[in-house]
Amino acid sequence: MSENLIIAIDGPAGSGKSTTARLLAQRLGFLYIDTGAMYRAITYSAITNDILENKEAIVKFTKESNLSLKYNGDTKVFLNEVEITDEIRSPLVNSKVSDISKIIEVREELVAKQRLMGQQGNCVMEGRDIGTVVFPNASVKIFLTASIDKRVDRRLKEFEDNGKKVFYDDVKENLVNRDIIDSTRDVSPLAKAEDAVEIDTSFLSIDEQVTEILEIIRNFQTSTK
Ligand code: C5P
Repeated sequence: MSENLIIAIDGPAGSGKSTTARLLAQRLGFLYIDTGAMYRAITYSAITNDILENKEAIVKFTKESNLSLKYNGDTKVFLNEVEITDEIRSPLVNSKVSDISKIIEVREELVAKQRLMGQQGNCVMEGRDIGTVVFPNASVKIFLTASIDKRVDRRLKEFEDNGKKVFYDDVKENLVNRDIIDSTRDVSPLAKAEDAVEIDTSFLSIDEQVTEILEIIRNFQTSTK
């Protein structure tokens, strides 16, 4: 599919994917692609355009809109040239995104975009279905997990760091709901690819996660020399 080196990182929300994938990409000098941001952008637009319940309109919008991720240390998200980087992280988007991500035509459109992005150069791509569907031939596949309590703690800290006040129980409920919808949907559910390496990050620091994955990538590179 592509000669680029693709590092696929999948796992549930709060498993440490984003921070780890971003740091890995920095260390390797690879592109970093956050596919969750794309599903979030479509969800945010469905909310603001008041078409959440109108599947056809959402699909049409997804096909016609110009969605782009610009990465410069941090991912900036643009939809039709308007930046919506912060807006896509709201609790309301969190509560709706998994339902939008179930729509097969939305997935087809975004997966096609992700494949094109992955052909632009070596990359670290994170999401739910990268190793299983988007790039089943990825060079290295990692599946990150962590206990629900650790994942809630991490999300709470992210909200706090951004000056947002949220409650433990609300964050936990959202993560549990998203896990259920994401892993039981018919199309490309959240799942570990057979050949992915699973890492439980519950008791690992970000540095330890990055070091472990770098080691796996180095072993892969040595084995294919
Ligand atoms: O990674 P993040 O938590 O930002 O993803 C938000 C949501 O986007 C997920 O809960 C899931 O519903 C959806 N998603 C997906 N497939 C991906 C990435 C994200 O369905 N590859």
